[in-house]
Amino acid sequence: MKIQNRMRVSFPARSVNESFARTVIAAFAATVDPTVDELIDIKTAVSEAVTNAIVHGYREELGQVYIGASLYPDGRLVVRIRDTGCGIPDIKKAMEPLYTTCETGERAGLGFAVMQELMDKVQVRSTPGKGTTVTLEKRLKIKQ
Ligand code: ATP
Ligand code: MG
Repeated sequence: MKIQNRMRVSFPARSVNESFARTVIAAFAATVDPTVDELIDIKTAVSEAVTNAIVHGYREELGQVYIGASLYPDGRLVVRIRDTGCGIPDIKKAMEPLYTTCETGERAGLGFAVMQELMDKVQVRSTPGKGTTVTLEKRLKIKQ
């Protein structure tokens, strides 16, 4: 289906940019006048994926995080969050609720579960040593 609008943005994997990413995706989605609840869901899911890229993908390194988003005429919003960090060896396991490789106890292992709860589709592609791409999709109830 023909794309109605699209955007791309990239930024260094610094934690200050987590709130930047939330704001940028909200501003893009706002062009089709979503509900407040839809906006909160999108911001939260994108934020989880961006945080993962920063804390797990790049760990101590400073790489780039890439976000691409498309809005389709039927109201679908598709957001791609990509890093070129360490990658995920076992995607199925990583997506299980409460699974985390964080050993400090700071993380709950719920990021992917939250993304799946808030969005209609979550797809993860990853190659160890090359990076990870998370694709999130949500059907917005756009007013005609
Ligand atoms: P929480 O999100 O609750 O703070 P978490 O980040 O550990 O904890 P998830 O977001 O569900 O939990 O991610 C599960 C695991 O998947 C992570 O612990 C990490 O091992 C791996 N992972 C997720 N995203 C990436 C990524 N972009 N690059 C490398 N590993 C990742
Ligand atoms: Mg996480």
